Amino acid sequence: MYLPDWIQKCISALEDAGFAAYAVGGCVRDSLLGLSPQDYDLCTNALPEQTKAVFRDYRLVLAGEKHGTVTVVTPEGNVEITTFRTEGGYRDSRHPDWVKFVPDIEGDLSRRDFTVNAMAYSPTRGFADPFGGQADLQNHILRAVGNPETRFREDALRILRGVRFSAKYGLTPENATLNAMVSESPLLDSLARERVFEELGKYLLVANVEDLRRFAPILGAAIPELSPMIGFDQHSPHHAYDLFTHTAHVVAGVPAEPVMRWAALLHDTGKIATYTRDETGRGHFYGHASAGAEMADRILRRLTMPGGLREQTVLLIAQHMTRLTPDRKSVRRAVHRFGRLGVEQILTLQQADMGSKGTGENQGDTTFARIREILSRLDQEAALPTLRDLAVNGRDLLALGLTGPAIGQTLDRLLEQVVEESLPNDREALLTAAKVWNSKS
Ligand code: ATP
Ligand code: MG
Repeated sequence: MYLPDWIQKCISALEDAGFAAYAVGGCVRDSLLGLSPQDYDLCTNALPEQTKAVFRDYRLVLAGEKHGTVTVVTPEGNVEITTFRTEGGYRDSRHPDWVKFVPDIEGDLSRRDFTVNAMAYSPTRGFADPFGGQADLQNHILRAVGNPETRFREDALRILRGVRFSAKYGLTPENATLNAMVSESPLLDSLARERVFEELGKYLLVANVEDLRRFAPILGAAIPELSPMIGFDQHSPHHAYDLFTHTAHVVAGVPAEPVMRWAALLHDTGKIATYTRDETGRGHFYGHASAGAEMADRILRRLTMPGGLREQTVLLIAQHMTRLTPDRKSVRRAVHRFGRLGVEQILTLQQADMGSKGTGENQGDTTFARIREILSRLDQEAALPTLRDLAVNGRDLLALGLTGPAIGQTLDRLLEQVVEESLPNDREALLTAAKVWNSKS
């Protein structure tokens, strides 16, 4: 197995001081898959004090020392070096209740969640793989280390990690692991919300239709608002899929960016509360976009999504049913209102939504292509004007005799007209319009 020089150097430094040291966990798994690891973790029988002594010439980060981790800062990157340890349950759902240093690698590997994550490698000692992680990786199997129920009860986040690893590496959970992932999923409710948010966010970036559907009940346990969508028949000629399957296609159909994936996951949550059937039996969901936006706002607040991301996600959901018309005026107005990126994201979500109904309808529709054409033409022109670019300002309106809120409102309205190209950005023209509007009212 390949390890970069700087990692080998860290391992040798520990070995030369008389300790055992291995690369461990995600970096071993990724290397075996031919992927380049995001980071390298080492484990060793050296105690934190001893690790600190070995790397005394380096800058060290000691935030994890209590749990046995010394982070060594090297020019090539940080290396986390952790003393072989086992750990107790996660009663606060964040940190292990206790950690106990153990003398050998097998003890350390047995605390890890899945066999594919419970492998270690050293250039001089070879592989430590007591749970058959290499074989499972080759056979594309996700398997908990030890008794799956026990392991998920210790830390329910492992269930969501299992979902993510399955999706990311194309693994299928073996039966006992899958059964325990489902049966223990109610425990997700007891986890710290930010852990759930972070893990779900990582999962969403690698999610595909098949695993979203396979793990739907688990996702429903993490976000209860999703549960009623699973298997929900929309009774509509426009939808061949149940609501959750449709949602899965939209998630997989938008780019792997947090705002897009979260918006796709939650875009139709408002459909459950707004569902009605007409006399012909057809389902309707009037107002589901704004109902969904409100629901998404509550969900994402609960999950501790940062405010800026949340607002953008909620905006996309609120706008996912509002069709832009492919003319210059409407497109400029939309860019003014939602920003260039906002319009791009709304269109992308709408296109994925339209393309995920399973009916093949709208395939010949050129509306989106025409809107995008207008957008790219606008991109080549100067940026849309803002209030600062307007040929009149508040003082001009004051001089016209306007007062109080009328000034701001008139400026906004003038800017809108200039953006839409209904008025030229010309001082005389703008003052005339302002006079006309304010004499009428
Ligand atoms: P990636 O960094 O690509 O998300 P990773 O496997 O490196 O994947 P980390 O969260 O960086 O995941 O954790 C490093 C290792 O620590 C894992 O490979 C696993 O062995 C162990 N581990 C992490 N979190 C848990 C957990 N909640 N329960 C048990 N073991 C864990
Ligand atoms: Mg990692």
